Amino acid sequence: MNRNTLISIIIPAFNEEECLRTTVLRITETVEAFKDEYSFELIFVNDGSSDKTLDLLRQLHKNNPEWIHYISFSRNFGHMNALRCGYDNARGQAVICMDADLQHPPSLIPVFLEKWREGYEIVFTSRQDNMKTGWFKRNSSRYFYHLMNSLSDVQIEPGAADFRLLDQQVVQLIRQSKETDLFIRGFIPWVGFRQYKIEYTPDQRFAGHSKYSLKKMIRLALNGITSFSVRPLRIAIILGASISGLAFLYAFYALYAHLVLKETVQGWTSVLISVLVIGGLQLLTLGILGEYLGRMYIQTKSRPAYIIQESTLPAPL
Ligand code: UDP
Ligand code: MG
Repeated sequence: MNRNTLISIIIPAFNEEECLRTTVLRITETVEAFKDEYSFELIFVNDGSSDKTLDLLRQLHKNNPEWIHYISFSRNFGHMNALRCGYDNARGQAVICMDADLQHPPSLIPVFLEKWREGYEIVFTSRQDNMKTGWFKRNSSRYFYHLMNSLSDVQIEPGAADFRLLDQQVVQLIRQSKETDLFIRGFIPWVGFRQYKIEYTPDQRFAGHSKYSLKKMIRLALNGITSFSVRPLRIAIILGASISGLAFLYAFYALYAHLVLKETVQGWTSVLISVLVIGGLQLLTLGILGEYLGRMYIQTKSRPAYIIQESTLPAPL
């Protein structure tokens, strides 16, 4: 290791004007201690902010053009795509990503570097929720990972967020992936390599409010589940098969009732229930099919994951 070893730190930012300065300050303080060992670059990805984030980034870069860089999107493309852009453009031997709101403590950066030096290609974190994390976030995240892990073939660490170090070798794999809407949180456990887990308690958001609306969270959850598993499709088949089996038996009973028992007028309730249940299940399974079909449709168009409007970095090779 010498000063020529470059470490990149990437930070997606969406309307984070209140956090940026302090975040930069805290990270600068942390990496200062390592400046004899490594050189660092800090890359912000401005995800179509509508506040003063971009102006601030321009200013920060101007004051410190070697250390602070930014890439700015033409509109909001979402956290995952902002991260992906960071990985596409980071030049470091190791790439650390974290949030702009100081919920991810910069004090873990030295631990990341130490483990990386020990030979781990991936150093990831697991959030140990405490009462500081909101009730909704804690529970929705817990149930999401639970559902995700029971539906999918890769196991994601509950509380895994986008706060990790990746060796350039792993970053290359993200770059090479042709998948639209790549679910990086699922991709990382899937790639293998030597992985080290660090548990941490998140700090409170430094300023502003969460940029993950409920809509964005649901979109991310659906993306996560359908990206790594076709099990929902299998569940649809099993549901379909069991309901048809029951319906078949019921058909026998209906015939028997009509021909032998002669009770043809009764049965309103059972007819209504079966129409509703089967109708509901059909819609559900169609919806599941539609979700996968939609993903294929979007994939075939292979539109870019993000559009860069302004950047202080040279275009990636
Ligand atoms: N973010 C982004 N684009 C978005 C939403 C969020 O780049 O559409 C960034 C945001 O600025 C922050 C990180 O992603 O740096 C995590 O978002 P946030 O802190 O709002 O999420 P939470 O911590 O509440 O899950
Ligand atoms: Mg946050």
